Amino acid sequence: MPRPKGAGASTTRALLRWYARHGRDLPWRRSPDPYRVLISEVMLQQTTVESVVPYYERFVAAFPDLDSLAAAREEDLLRLWSGLGYYRRARSLLAAARVMKREHAGRVPDDPASLQRLPGIGPYTSSAILAIAFGRPAVALDGNLVRVLARLGAYEGDPRSAEGNRLLHDAGFAMVTAGSPAAVNQALMDLGASLCAPRRPRCRACPVERDCKGRSAGVAEAIPPPRRRSAAVAVTLAAGVVRRRGRVLLRRRAGALMEGLWEFPMAEAPAGRDPVRALRREIRRLGGVGLHAPRPAGSVRHAITNRRIRVEIYCGEAADPPRPAPGGGTRGSVPVAGRAGPGAHRRNGNGRRTRGVTEAVSSYRSGRGGTRDPETRWIPWGRLADLPLTGIARKIMRAVRPEGTAGSGGIR
Ligand code: SF4
Repeated sequence: MPRPKGAGASTTRALLRWYARHGRDLPWRRSPDPYRVLISEVMLQQTTVESVVPYYERFVAAFPDLDSLAAAREEDLLRLWSGLGYYRRARSLLAAARVMKREHAGRVPDDPASLQRLPGIGPYTSSAILAIAFGRPAVALDGNLVRVLARLGAYEGDPRSAEGNRLLHDAGFAMVTAGSPAAVNQALMDLGASLCAPRRPRCRACPVERDCKGRSAGVAEAIPPPRRRSAAVAVTLAAGVVRRRGRVLLRRRAGALMEGLWEFPMAEAPAGRDPVRALRREIRRLGGVGLHAPRPAGSVRHAITNRRIRVEIYCGEAADPPRPAPGGGTRGSVPVAGRAGPGAHRRNGNGRRTRGVTEAVSSYRSGRGGTRDPETRWIPWGRLADLPLTGIARKIMRAVRPEGTAGSGGIR
C-alpha cells in the first residue's frame, strides 16, 4: 500500500500557476502578518472559510494587534466569537496572546516548539503559521491537503493512521520545498476546496491532472475512504422568552461547554410530555417567576457535533410566583423571590438575604448580583446584541421580533 513519494517540481509549478490565477481572495491573505495568520488559523479550526470571514473581519477591527488582544476582556472576546462555536478557542487565543506578550516580547514565535506550547495551538495550526506567516517549510495537513495529496499519490489507506500521516506529510513536504511554502500550502488548500472536492472532483479542469495517480488509476473519488460517523441524535428543547418591563430573562452558562455565554431559559421537551410545564419549572428555578400566557413563537434548529437540536420558542410575561401556602412554605418547588417591592430583600430558608426581582432588574446596570440564581439577569431587549450569546440564543433573538415591531410571535 505505501505510495506517496511527492509530486515532481513540475507539478508544484503547475499548481502555483493555477493558484496565481484562481487562488481565493481571503482577508487574512491580504496582509499575512503572523498575528492575522494566527487569528485566522484558530478561527478556521473545524469551521468553514465562509463562516469565518465576517467573524475574522470584526475581530481584527476590534483587536488589530497582539497588544490589544492581550488586554481584551474575555466577555468582549466571547461576544465577537458568539455564533462561531467552539468557544474554548476564543479563551485559548486570549490566554495565548497574554503568554506571547509576557514571554515572547509581544510577538508570535516562529519556532514549532514555542508555538505548540501556546494554549490552543497544536501541530496543524503551528505548521500553518510557520508556513504562511514565516515562509518556513512546513505542511499544514488539513482536510483539503489530506485529500489532494492522497489522491495525487493514489493512497487508499487511512490518512489518519500513523503511516498515512507520515506518507502524506512527506509528499506535502516535497511540494512545499519545491516552491514558496506559503503559496504551496494555500494552493493545495484552494485546490481541495474547489476542483478536488470530496465528491465528483473536476479532474479535467485540474492543473495537476497529468501527474495525479489517483486520477490515472480511476480511484480518485474513493480517496480518502469515508469516515465512520456516529449517528445523529435528535433533541427537542423548549426555550422561553420571558418578558418583564421590557427586559427578558437570560442565564449565563457555566461548565466547560460554552462557559460564559448567555442563553434564554431552556428545558428538554421529550416527545409526549408538555414542553411548557418543564419550561415553567426552569424559569421559576432561574428567575423565581412564573410564565404567564406563553405563546408559541416558532422554532429554530441548531447542530452541535452529532446533536440535531430543534428549539420550540415560547414568549410570555413574567408572572408573580405562587403565594405562600397557609401555614408557611410555598406552593410549588421554588421559594418566593419576586413579590418584593423595589430594592426589597427577603430571607431564604437559611436566613440569608436574597434579592427581589425588582432589584435584580436594576442590578444589571450596576453590574451587581442578579436574580435568584447568580447566573441569571433581566436584560433589556435592546442590549442583547451586546452580550456574548450562544448560537441558539442568537437564532432565537432573530426569530422573535423585538418590541415595537411585534407580529404574532413577537415580544409585546
Ligand atoms: Fe484531485 Fe482530480 Fe486533480 Fe487528482 S486530478 S488532484 S483527483 S482534481
